Amino acid sequence: MNQTRRQFVATASAIAGTVTLLPYGVRAAGHGGDVFEASGGNITVHPVSHASFVMETPAGTIYADPVGDAAAYSSFPAPDLILITHEHGDHYKADTLSAIIAENTSIITNPAVFAMLPDTLKARASQIANGGSSEFNGVSIEAIPAYNTTKERLNFHPKGRDNGYVLGFEGLRVYISGDTEDIPEMRALTGIDLAFVCMNLPFTMDVEQAASAVAEFKPKYVYPYHYRGRDGGTQDPEAFAKLVGDGVEVKLAGWYA
Ligand code: ZN
Ligand code: ZN
Repeated sequence: MNQTRRQFVATASAIAGTVTLLPYGVRAAGHGGDVFEASGGNITVHPVSHASFVMETPAGTIYADPVGDAAAYSSFPAPDLILITHEHGDHYKADTLSAIIAENTSIITNPAVFAMLPDTLKARASQIANGGSSEFNGVSIEAIPAYNTTKERLNFHPKGRDNGYVLGFEGLRVYISGDTEDIPEMRALTGIDLAFVCMNLPFTMDVEQAASAVAEFKPKYVYPYHYRGRDGGTQDPEAFAKLVGDGVEVKLAGWYA
């Protein structure tokens, strides 16, 4: 571990108050995470559940769509940044946010969620609309559209409302799909190293759509996530992996453990 990284871990741990400083990569059982090497410093991904995950990065600890019991996050450093893609309960929960924020946590949302944030959360939040961009501690953040294209699904995620995000770390570009189908804006992404791509019915898309889009924009690594739907329906991440084929490394994780 280099010195910068060590300081960051120590600082983040001090903020969290509950995390013991351990050598890099050695954390409590189940929270080892997947490490992705980048020239600006490694990024460690911790899948939490469904659409929620934590990334430890050189720019700070970033939570994506944290929902559910705050205890699920207690072993991670407190968030420096929280990204919210859209208003559905499996992506946005004000109570969870209130329980997990720390003194210096920033929040970035789509405009619809920003409008519904309680005042205490809104005070630390900013909004980006589709096509817009922002910056956090040197990391560029682009809002990518996320919407349905199949007629009978249009009401779930109408075009223009919800966000995906592309995060530009030094040496690593990360795409978070949010809830979407295989839209042209996803297929046109370039230079993505690590992607999180949703797949579930009836709300988003099936494995064929997801694999077809991923094969086109060709991230180095992809996590199938958000793959359970209504009534226990599941898109099979292993079927997705077979369809994607060679050239993209599929990361299977215990999102529903
Ligand atoms: Zn949704
Ligand atoms: Zn969802």
